[in-house]
Amino acid sequence: MNRGTLLIHNGHETEPLSGALGVPIIQTSTFDQGDLSGHHEYDYARSGNPTRKALEEIIAGLEKGAKGYAFGSGIAAIASVLGIFSAGDHLIAAEDIYGGSWRILNTFYKRWGLEMTAVDATDPDEIRRAIKPATKALFLETPSNPLLKITNLPVCLGIAQEAGLISIVDNTFMTPYLQRPLELGADIVVHSATKFLGGHSDVISGLAVTKTEALGKQVYAVQNSFGAVPGPWDVWLVIRGLKTLKVRMDAQEASARLIAAWLKAHEKVCAVYYPGLPDHPGRHLHEAQAAGAGAVLSFKTSTREQALAFLNRVTLAATAVSLGGVETIASYPVMMSHASLPPAERERLGISDTLIRISVGLEDAEDLIADFAQALA
Ligand SMILES: *Cc1c(COP(=O)(O)O)cnc(C)c1O
Repeated sequence: MNRGTLLIHNGHETEPLSGALGVPIIQTSTFDQGDLSGHHEYDYARSGNPTRKALEEIIAGLEKGAKGYAFGSGIAAIASVLGIFSAGDHLIAAEDIYGGSWRILNTFYKRWGLEMTAVDATDPDEIRRAIKPATKALFLETPSNPLLKITNLPVCLGIAQEAGLISIVDNTFMTPYLQRPLELGADIVVHSATKFLGGHSDVISGLAVTKTEALGKQVYAVQNSFGAVPGPWDVWLVIRGLKTLKVRMDAQEASARLIAAWLKAHEKVCAVYYPGLPDHPGRHLHEAQAAGAGAVLSFKTSTREQALAFLNRVTLAATAVSLGGVETIASYPVMMSHASLPPAERERLGISDTLIRISVGLEDAEDLIADFAQALA
């Protein structure tokens, strides 16, 4: 089956007991264990819940992995996956991973003895140079946020494989509809399902998929021990959102392409970052490993005042954090996602006070462009 069909025929399209065309919400904390014979799949809902299990099987199928796990947020998924490592282990991470991933590595896990080296993963040699005897894992995210830099997944994941590292890829921006890191050599994929997978800005949720059953057992042990699990209603919203991922992604990407090209030609815009633009430095790399450019782009105005004026005057886009919803969102990385970075570090990464990130929603592109035009004017 092709990617779009798989989103609908996901193994859970019909509920066997009633024939319902949907996964039931099983709202319970515990399960009757009857004769105590031990032949019961479920005992306690932190350890397992049928609604959650459906989503876990669906995401494993979409990412072509062995096992899927659902969590209460994207960060809970990432923190739980990192929980398979031990004090003294060393990990290499791309320097522009999601701010929350950065924070949990540099604060929480640092205190627990997990050491981290940040590298510019667009240069695979930096990864090679950072490997040392204690290195156990490589953590990547592509396209990166907010500058949409592209990391060569096959090459970097190959380096990890050769060195015996467990590779983890945050696939939130692309979703399995556009990019499947496990097929490119990754061991674990993580998601904020809050974004494109849920798709409607109405749920916080996270997912992880492992390539092997053995890694799945390790992640499950942390899921069950940490207990950062989602409730069945939230899980159900993600299952529901996934069914329309194809049409949302296709439409949002089509608009993103128009908006990126329009911004590029605008006199007040100095730079546009979008892997769908012909002159994006990572475009060929991205096209070789993903089926589309996605619906997140960023751009720079000439001055900070212009950027703030745009955010103040734009009406169709909400000025907010988050992305991947049906509604267009404009965010200001220096004051939002990357506010916690020291200014010098932000400047080094190119995250200036003129940078605006747009997550393109399902409004008509023509209306969005008209709105952006008046806001820039
Ligand atoms: C939002 C996001 C996360 C964190 O997910 P939450 O659901 O907010 O916890 C992780 N990675 C990326 C790329 C994100 O955009």
